[in-house]
This record gives sequence, C-alpha cells and structure tokens, in this order.
Amino acid sequence: MTATATATATAMPAATGGVSTRVVTGLKPTGRLHVGNYVGAVRPLLDLARSVGTQTLVFVADLHAMTVEHDPGRLRDQTRELAATLLACGLGDDATLFLQSAVPAHTGLAYLLECTAGYGEMARMIQFKEKAGAERGSARLSLLTYPTLMAADVLVYRADVVPVGDDQRQHLELTRTLARRFNARYGEVFTVPAAATPPSAARIRSLRDPAAKMGKSSSADGSVHLIDPPVRIAAAVRSAVTDLDPVLSYDPELRPGVANLAELLGALTGRTPHSALAGLRGAGALKAALTEVLVETLRPVRSRYAELVADPAELDRRMARGAAAAAALAAPTLAAVRAAMGIVDVGQASM
Ligand code: ATP
Ligand code: MG
Repeated sequence: MTATATATATAMPAATGGVSTRVVTGLKPTGRLHVGNYVGAVRPLLDLARSVGTQTLVFVADLHAMTVEHDPGRLRDQTRELAATLLACGLGDDATLFLQSAVPAHTGLAYLLECTAGYGEMARMIQFKEKAGAERGSARLSLLTYPTLMAADVLVYRADVVPVGDDQRQHLELTRTLARRFNARYGEVFTVPAAATPPSAARIRSLRDPAAKMGKSSSADGSVHLIDPPVRIAAAVRSAVTDLDPVLSYDPELRPGVANLAELLGALTGRTPHSALAGLRGAGALKAALTEVLVETLRPVRSRYAELVADPAELDRRMARGAAAAAALAAPTLAAVRAAMGIVDVGQASM
C-alpha cells in the first residue's frame, strides 16, 4: 500500500483519483493478442482496473521488444496494433494505458537502478542465461540489463501489486531486492511491490497442438486472435484437434484437445471446464458453442479496433494522454531517487 493513499470511490479517471492499491503491468508488442492472452491477462486486468480503490497502469512494453534482433517496421506496427487492441478491450477507460517509450522516466530510472545492481546478479537471471546462451556472445547488452528497466517500470510508479506470469517471477524478485537495497542505502523512496498471479487462470493451448501453449510468437494456425473476423474464428475452432470419442468428458491428461476447448469455453462463460461441457453432445456441438461465444465476446473488440485503426490520430491522442498521466505519476519518484543518490538538480536548460 502506498503511504499517501486513501481509498475513495470517485468518478474521476483512474490516474487522478485517490487509491489504495496501485497495479502496474506491461505487455510486450511481440505479436497479435490471442484468446489465451485475453483470459489469462487482459480480462483479469480489466477486472482489477474496474475494482474500487485500485489504480491500474498498463503499458505497451515496446522497449522490452528490442532486447533481441528486431525489425523497426514490425515493431512500429505491432506497437500500434497492441495499443489499439488493448484500447478496444476497454483498458483505456479504466486503466491508464500508454507506451513505455513515451515516458522517459522509465529509462531514466533504469540507469540509476543499474548503479545499484551487480553484474553477477544480472547474469544469473534465468531468462538471460537461456536466451544469451542460445545467441553465443552476440546477445544484446540490453538482454542483460533489461530486468533493471523492468524494475524501473514498476518502481517508478511505486506500484503495490504487479501481475506476473511464471516466466517473470524471478525478475519481480530482483525488483523487490533492488527496491529494498535502495531504500536501505539511500533512504525510503520505493514501495516494495508484491507479485499477483491471476486466480488459477487456465493455460490455453494451441487448437492445432494441445501439447503446446497458445502463444503470440508461435504458429498462428492454432490461435484465435482478438481481432479475427468471425469466419476466421469459426475456421480455427472447426479445425481444432479433438478425438474420436463421441461422448464429451473433461480429462486434460487423456483428452487434451477436448479439455482445452472446455477450458476456453469455461473461462469465457465463467464456468468450470466440466460444467461448460454439460448438455453438449459431441465435439461438433462443443465447437459450435465455443465459436458462438468467441464470436460474441470478440465482436465489440473487433469493431472498436476497426474504428481505432481507421483513425490513427485518435489512437495517438489517447496514447499521448495516457503517457502524460503516467509521466506525472512517475516524475516525483524519479526526482526523489535523483536527489537521494546525489544528483545535483539545476533545472531544465532554457534556450
Ligand atoms: P510469446 O509467445 O511471445 O511468449 P505469449 O502469448 O506467451 O507470447 P506473453 O507476452 O508471454 O504472451 O504474455 C502476456 C500475458 O498473457 C501473460 O500474463 C501470460 O501469462 C498470458 N498468457 C500468454 N499465453 C497464455 C495462454 N496460452 N493462456 C493463458 N494466458 C496466457
Ligand atoms: Mg510467453
């Protein structure tokens, strides 16, 4: 909890209201959002953002998409697409949504945090070891240092809670370590954030290969994307792998294909996978039910997305507004860190 916060339910935008819990999270623009991202990340975030006494900041982590070889045109497209998709999901209404790169305090703080972190502890990060090992010496330096940027992303807002997937758990632990170390060495500036795992979110698997997770950067064939048209959704579900047993049952071990569809249907309709199957006869009926729910759930997302894509200036305006709100929240923390570390503030140069 932040020391200054008091819970008040107001009709004010999240960025200006008094809050008791601040939640910060980022999503990397590395591919098209799919329904796994939706039930596992976007919808839990929407729920959080809409709960009283919570202030939620969500950013498109464009800088984190540059730690490995990247294509500028592709990064540009994927950044705008992710921003528009998140807005289309409603995240811009209840959360402060912005591009990470549009708030320079992130990188400003990241360098200062690098001055509190050790080479050894950074090189021990599992993600670094795995990815750098695969790249044999050609790995970007930012692959080693990005966990300090991640720490800055969170600490600069004095976040209380950070929703993290399993793969980012170690980086959040590092963030907590750096925050405690800083507070002990230079004075209490940071809030030490807690990790939040979305409540037993189902891991949605590829529709083509139920042994693999549905992923942004994996084969598009097995995925349903949030901005897919109904015909594409229907085709993807129709070609989902199931089995020959005509009687449906929920058995993730023995019937992974059917179980995956049941989990997705359950997650979308607020039921357990088992009860999502109730009343349905055969894989065809399950697929028809799932297609209908997916099409209906995603219809408004897709139409809002189309509006935003047709009006790029409006998308930019909304992102700029989000960045301004975020920058205002970040500025006092960065100023406090600079002062605590001994940086002399002579103000902005004027021409
Ligand atoms: P990539 O293939 O690039 O790793 P991804 O689809 O796994 O992409 P991430 O950016 O790694 O997406 O994760 C974004 C969020 O979506 C995280 O909170 C993660 O837990 C969640 N998520 C990703 N894939 C799934 C899935 N198949 N089912 C449920 N949640 C998922
Ligand atoms: Mg992933």
